[in-house]
Amino acid sequence: MRSIIALPDKRLRQESSPIKCFDDGLKELASEMQAAMLEGPGGVGIAAPQIGEMSSVVLVDCRQTKRPCDNHGLLFLVNPEIISLTGGEVLGREGCLSAPKWTGMVPRTRDIHLRYRNLKGDEQELKSSGFEARVIQHEIDHLHGVLFIDRMISTRDLVRRTP
Ligand code: ZN
Repeated sequence: MRSIIALPDKRLRQESSPIKCFDDGLKELASEMQAAMLEGPGGVGIAAPQIGEMSSVVLVDCRQTKRPCDNHGLLFLVNPEIISLTGGEVLGREGCLSAPKWTGMVPRTRDIHLRYRNLKGDEQELKSSGFEARVIQHEIDHLHGVLFIDRMISTRDLVRRTP
């Protein structure tokens, strides 16, 4: 079981590499990510760098959220690439398994259209909106060493989570 790495770990600031082999190792990474996410509080997504694997894989799972959004179920996005971000910016509260004590208000684009590969290596496209689109943007940021605190308009919006 791999544990989640948290700030100020420098790996969270690195660029991830694309997946080239769609093999059993990738499936194992995917299940390790899912297990690590479920250990955290209310996890709706996780990116491979958060368990110390600098690979372009994210998991998004909005099946349990009460926030309004598209819900595509359990999504493993390998080598995700954003095709377009549309619909204007919306402010919303975000947290992160790698900054577990804090939440903050972050502007994100409402709609996202992306291209990615599934765990078998098939090319896929997805359009999403609302909270799920927010989570996808948050997780793709992790692949480029970007954290939600970087996108906040003001760090005065940072709120300490109540235990
Ligand atoms: Zn995060």
